[in-house]
Amino acid sequence: MKRFASVLAALLVATTASAADAIVAIKAGRLVDPAAGTASRNQVILVEGRTIKEVGAGVAIPAGATVVDLSDATVLPGLFDCHSHLCTVLGKPAGDGPRDVFGALLLTTLTDSTAYRALQGVANGRSMLEAGFTTVRDVGNAGNYADTDLRRAQESGLIQAPTIVNAGRIIVALGGQFPPRIPGWLQDPRNPDHKHYGVLHPERPGLGNPEYLYADTRDEMTKAVRENILYGARVIKLVVDDQPYIYSADDIRHIVAEAAGAGLKVAAHCATQAGARNAIEGGVASVEHGFWMDDETLQLAKARGVVLVGTDFPLSASRMLGMPDSVHTAMMDRVKRAHRIGVTLAFGSDVFFAPEGFTRGSFAASYASGYAEAGLSPADILRLMITNPAKLLGVEKERGAIRAGLAADIIATPDDPLQDAAAALQRVSFVMKEGQVVKRP
Ligand SMILES: [Zn+2]
Repeated sequence: MKRFASVLAALLVATTASAADAIVAIKAGRLVDPAAGTASRNQVILVEGRTIKEVGAGVAIPAGATVVDLSDATVLPGLFDCHSHLCTVLGKPAGDGPRDVFGALLLTTLTDSTAYRALQGVANGRSMLEAGFTTVRDVGNAGNYADTDLRRAQESGLIQAPTIVNAGRIIVALGGQFPPRIPGWLQDPRNPDHKHYGVLHPERPGLGNPEYLYADTRDEMTKAVRENILYGARVIKLVVDDQPYIYSADDIRHIVAEAAGAGLKVAAHCATQAGARNAIEGGVASVEHGFWMDDETLQLAKARGVVLVGTDFPLSASRMLGMPDSVHTAMMDRVKRAHRIGVTLAFGSDVFFAPEGFTRGSFAASYASGYAEAGLSPADILRLMITNPAKLLGVEKERGAIRAGLAADIIATPDDPLQDAAAALQRVSFVMKEGQVVKRP
């Protein structure tokens, strides 16, 4: 009994000590405010538990606090990736370009169980976090709801991963993303056979399941949205136009209304100009990809407050995917036009593999260089990787800034992101996720 009491006393001391230690003081050489595009020097950030308690130049560091000295670094809020597929890992396309991308996705669907997809999600989540991404919007391709379990594991503290806003199963017309012909924008002129894809055939109509949730009639659309809500989606993802039959503006309006009833926004994959226009008129929150949007459609997006998650590949990634350089040139041109017109941009990598020399996370971070290539300023790049995504994901009251009361999602880089954001954000040296240090210099 006496022994038990002394153990208990020791435990109490330990608990009290850890409570005092629970305050972490970060000394930031420079602290960036991405919304304003400015930095202030020699700031102190006090973190208590999962939350930022106080920020400022004259903040006193309480006795017993754990000090993290980042006086030589620039500190900023954690990054966002609005278009991840954490539970999908495809082999690097082996020279056969787009056909391999779709073929590899089908193979994954057929050969990897949902449990295995979830484990891949754990590894990819950790990798993204180490690269500085503290929040992701995961837009489907997760087998049979591996993404919901991944989100749950992160929220309950079982795993260290970014905060996940997950889409569940992608809602799409019959056939999913396995069209009878490769979409025009992905066709490789060097190989005319690319046009003829035809993976799904009449004897195997269901091969797209569970990767996709087919919905063609209004009743099926209602039910597809409800299935996603029931099984834990936090955003609805549509593929508008990968088939010759595309969702109309009225179809999309119907889906948006059903999702909105449960407080969910809609993200729409748009591979064509017509698809992007229907999505915007239908009231989606974001157009994904939208590579072929003309100026008029971009103006409509701006007028309706629709965010463009461009998933624009830098040239290096474009070549690895086997795409013709002309696709990359068109992407860069669309970034420039969207920026000039004033469409709100949010960063999305759409990464589903990591080439040699990269991790999944570092490859996603490298996509920031596409925006620098298109001529966006460092402040613009910081806004599209932090501030704009926080609003799009509806988490701006919890994340996306370093301010008292917000989650302690904090990163640092030895470089100056206001000089060269794309380079600095590829050298993230410190990551704190909800008060826990994940990576340190
Ligand atoms: Zn995608």
